[in-house]
Amino acid sequence: MYRTRNCGELRISNVGEEVTLAGWVQTVRKFGSITFVDLRDRYGITQLYFNEALTVALNDRPLGREFVLQAKGKVIERTSKNNKIPTGDVEIEISEYTILNAAEVPPFTIEDQTDGGDELRMKYRYLDLRRPTLKRNLELRYKVNRSVRNYLDTLGFWDIETPFLIKSTPEGARDFVVPSRMNQGQFYALPQSPQTFKQLLMVSGYDRYYQIVKCFRDEDLRADRQPEFTQVDCEMCFVEQEDILNTFEGLFKHVFYDVKGVDIKEQFPRMTYDDAMWNYGNDKPDIRFGMTIQNMKAENNVHCATITQSEAGFKVFDDAETIVAICVPGASEYTRKQTDEITEWVKRPQIGMTGLIFVKCNADGTFKSSVDKFYNPDQLKEIANFCSANAGDLILILAGKETRTRKAMSELRLEMGNRLGMRNPAEYKPLWVIDFPLFEYDEEDDRWVARHHPFTSPKPEQIELMNDRSRYGEIKANAYDIVLNGTEIGGGSIRIFQKELQEKMFAALGMSQEEAHEKFGFLLGAFEYGAPPHGGIAFGFDRLCALLGGQESIRDFIAFPKNNAGRDMMIDAPSAIDDKQKKELGL
Ligand code: ASP
Repeated sequence: MYRTRNCGELRISNVGEEVTLAGWVQTVRKFGSITFVDLRDRYGITQLYFNEALTVALNDRPLGREFVLQAKGKVIERTSKNNKIPTGDVEIEISEYTILNAAEVPPFTIEDQTDGGDELRMKYRYLDLRRPTLKRNLELRYKVNRSVRNYLDTLGFWDIETPFLIKSTPEGARDFVVPSRMNQGQFYALPQSPQTFKQLLMVSGYDRYYQIVKCFRDEDLRADRQPEFTQVDCEMCFVEQEDILNTFEGLFKHVFYDVKGVDIKEQFPRMTYDDAMWNYGNDKPDIRFGMTIQNMKAENNVHCATITQSEAGFKVFDDAETIVAICVPGASEYTRKQTDEITEWVKRPQIGMTGLIFVKCNADGTFKSSVDKFYNPDQLKEIANFCSANAGDLILILAGKETRTRKAMSELRLEMGNRLGMRNPAEYKPLWVIDFPLFEYDEEDDRWVARHHPFTSPKPEQIELMNDRSRYGEIKANAYDIVLNGTEIGGGSIRIFQKELQEKMFAALGMSQEEAHEKFGFLLGAFEYGAPPHGGIAFGFDRLCALLGGQESIRDFIAFPKNNAGRDMMIDAPSAIDDKQKKELGL
């Protein structure tokens, strides 16, 4: 037997026990003629005490960091206790030990505060994974996985695998393709999601399906994206949007409670896509804090009369398509330096504004603004009233083209939320965003594309509008996203289940009948054999874990992730293949 106990479990109550531990050497500390070694495994760290005789032996063959060691001895009470670790009351008085394997000096320290840079740690991921932070992250991931399975299992969902070698599934990203040796010149695509398969399982009558499954999308990468990522993919038969929202709200509540002890009793708020865009400037609002966008001038005739009707002659406002503001609570005392800094922030290329206007609503009821030249105190007061600003608020105003200005304000709101410490990662504020548009206009390609995917059902009462291209923009879908703390963590829709409507949808997306049948003949065919009404949802599993772990980046919640260039630094992939392989594949 390699061990009788692990390195995380011994307590004062174990004093006197003879134990054998096995693990990795974290540190070796010599004190004159005796030695202390911290031994680490997945469960924790235990201090080993080597007496004089054994220290002599250690001098002959010194232990190094990360050596694999087996140690036998008696549990004794420590004289100087370490209250930072659960085993800190005891140590093992070693009687015998065996070096099971030596180790090279690791290229970085295996501790939470490590000296290794990103690339180095990715190259030696197996060492990085030994660090406590990563271990905690992967433990959390496992617990979330188990919790999701338990919940879905109780509700009768079946975990059914779907293939990886398939034909392209349009989810808006580029496919990864795999050449077929047996069918030369032809390619499989790796699934962007199991979308069509889960729908086919509904046609087969499997009623409730789920899978915690890898999906593949060949996209440009960011900190929260990976070319292969994991989804909790679900589908249900004979359901309406309401059934899906309730079922999966239940799943989230279960997971939050199970994994974090967070008990959310209330129903998750629901917000329409239009309201989210109007009040937050984006479709994944962070509702941990207010500071909602005040629309001072906008297309649908909302306006702050002081600005739009005054003869102030302030060109920035006069020429703007859109004027939006936020009221930053308690910031009226910002110094010139602070307001300059925010102005510089909105001028950064990523935000792309040319300037920022501010109005300070001083605590004494007076106003001071960057546009004092154009507006008198009464007018500033009217502006403040329009924005529902309170005394002590700092009103920040952006003006310009509709899309850019709204987007910039959305970013500025989040930035101010950060600066004011209003985005506490330990607070969970989920919500549903519903009634997404069915289509989205792709300016570049000059055509309408599906906002979610082509299998999403329009609101039944708006199907008529699909006959009039000029009204595509008005059509809403039975599609929904779940958003947590400003991050979209999942989305889904009620699906089209009638062949004619699906064909109409493909046509609306600019597909000819032949093309639609060539690509999706299997689905259209299936819809001819008794397809039930159905709908579903999928969650980004990596992202959910990162959020539950209080972090932004998903990378450290994945055992073996890829870097920003899509490379696995450890195994060095992708890599070239040899000519023989290429020939076999007909490449
Ligand atoms: N397949 C969709 C996605 O990956 C989710 C869904 O509609 O169920 O976003």
